[in-house]
Amino acid sequence: METVTSRLNDLRKLIPSGVELVAVSKFHPAGALREAYEAGQRIFGESRAPELVAKAGELPGDISWHFIGHLQTNKVRAIMPHVSLIHSVDSLKLLTLIDAEAARIGRTVDVLMQLHVAREETKFGLTPDEMLGLLTPPLVESLTNTRITGVMGMASNTDDEDRIRRDFHEIRSTFAHLASTVFAGRPEFKVVSMGMSHDWPIAVDEGANMIRVGTTIFGDREY
Ligand SMILES: *Cc1c(COP(=O)(O)O)cnc(C)c1O
Repeated sequence: METVTSRLNDLRKLIPSGVELVAVSKFHPAGALREAYEAGQRIFGESRAPELVAKAGELPGDISWHFIGHLQTNKVRAIMPHVSLIHSVDSLKLLTLIDAEAARIGRTVDVLMQLHVAREETKFGLTPDEMLGLLTPPLVESLTNTRITGVMGMASNTDDEDRIRRDFHEIRSTFAHLASTVFAGRPEFKVVSMGMSHDWPIAVDEGANMIRVGTTIFGDREY
């Protein structure tokens, strides 16, 4: 029988070492997360603030909670005590607020900057040009309680593998450009978060070192 444990273990066999797996548990009940936890999974990704907060209260304290969805500024305060990595920073306003909230509660938080390279109009994130314009050395140096540790992105929602590959390539090359310029000498800038259930092998092929997989582990979501 297919269980969370068996699907997780099958998936792990396919993921090369050096690639971190975020188990995307949004919309799944705490029991499903607990099963993955008992199979050794420690990184879980959630896309809604109240759900992340509730699950963090219910599940073991050694879990790393990643926020992967669109983050509204009025939700930053709620997740700040629980979150270890925010994947989805896409504005100066949000970045500044995260830094202030982290400072307010006396912690440091890691974030990824979200790139928009997909062909969909509605997706969040900054274009490569917008991101290169935003992330200036003075801005990065001004952050006292936030470490920008890399980038996150999604490929176009299509079956066209070449299109997907080109999108991932663009994310990876934007990362490389940033790593060699504004983040040169900052070894913490090392994360390329891209790839989901249907396209993660292409993402890994194109240089992802963090993948976000939900459906393959937990099955379909019931919204
Ligand atoms: C839901 C989600 C995922 C996981 O998608 P699956 O297709 O279930 O693997 C990955 N990344 C983000 C940003 C998501 O919102």
